[in-house]
Amino acid sequence: MAEASKKAFVCGHPIAHSRSPKIHGFWLKHYGIEGSYTAIDVAPEDFSAFLKRLEAEGFAGGNVTIPHKEAAFRLVDRRDAAAEAIGAVNTLWYEDGQLWGGNTDAYGFAANLDEYAPGWDKTDTALVLGAGGAARAIVHALKQRSIRDIRIVNRTVARAEELAASFGAGVSAHPLAATGEFLPETGLLINTTSVGMHGNEELPVDPSALPDRAVVTDIVYVPLETPLLAAARARGLKTVDGLGMLLHQAVLGFERWFGVKPEVTRELREMIVADLGAAR
Ligand code: NAP
Repeated sequence: MAEASKKAFVCGHPIAHSRSPKIHGFWLKHYGIEGSYTAIDVAPEDFSAFLKRLEAEGFAGGNVTIPHKEAAFRLVDRRDAAAEAIGAVNTLWYEDGQLWGGNTDAYGFAANLDEYAPGWDKTDTALVLGAGGAARAIVHALKQRSIRDIRIVNRTVARAEELAASFGAGVSAHPLAATGEFLPETGLLINTTSVGMHGNEELPVDPSALPDRAVVTDIVYVPLETPLLAAARARGLKTVDGLGMLLHQAVLGFERWFGVKPEVTRELREMIVADLGAAR
């Protein structure tokens, strides 16, 4: 008997903007896998019931995005170590009859830098702009790579303090005003704020005072080259855009649901870049 076609999904609210169906659809076709990956709009009040129905509806698992990542964290049976550290779940799968929740954002962040800026983690000092949900995953990735001095600056200092406190020694919280003083000592600068996004295309900080060896990355990927990355490139610094994080974070879910570890290829990237361009 032929193996049943496997089904996965991404759920969020809203969900129409998600690129995940395009990414997973590309891999399903590329690897010739009988399967599907669909976007499902789930309102917050329906999320718990949605999770309960998943197995009966034949899903192998799926992705969870805004605003359900924290609810998924609370509702799954088991969580992987990354989800525990980050406090949010973006990937679901079944294992030993239990619903597992994982978080692949830290993996995606690190894999993107490994690809485009090898050696990025050979620095003692990282400066993280922003303290939202994405920043939590990134601080976890930096800790995993043993970066000793992780400085978080955020408009709302209390949010940075809460984030730093949950990671303990080696992670500190500061007001935006501290940025100028930190820049000359920073080996890795990461923008995790939405400043620079299409519609808000401003510089979150001026990178000119960074040392020549610094690597600059922005997790905003619309536009692909944000004002921060453009300014850093003009300054002669190594820059890495945020699209690779989105592509790499999808790898681990696909592997769990469909049994093949997919490759992030140039062809996949170009397809998504074209799609982002078409949507603007
Ligand atoms: P979030 O939880 O809403 O956090 C937003 C952060 O941006 C907060 O630190 C916020 O500061 C800061 N911020 C917003 N507007 C600001 C302004 N005008 N001036 C200074 N700071 C400002 O959002 P998130 O989920 O962390 O996502 C942040 C960005 O990352 C989004 O653009 C998202 O699309 C992108 N992202 C990309 C990937 C990827 O795979 N590449 C993955 C996840 C997220 P306050 O705390 O003071 O409000």
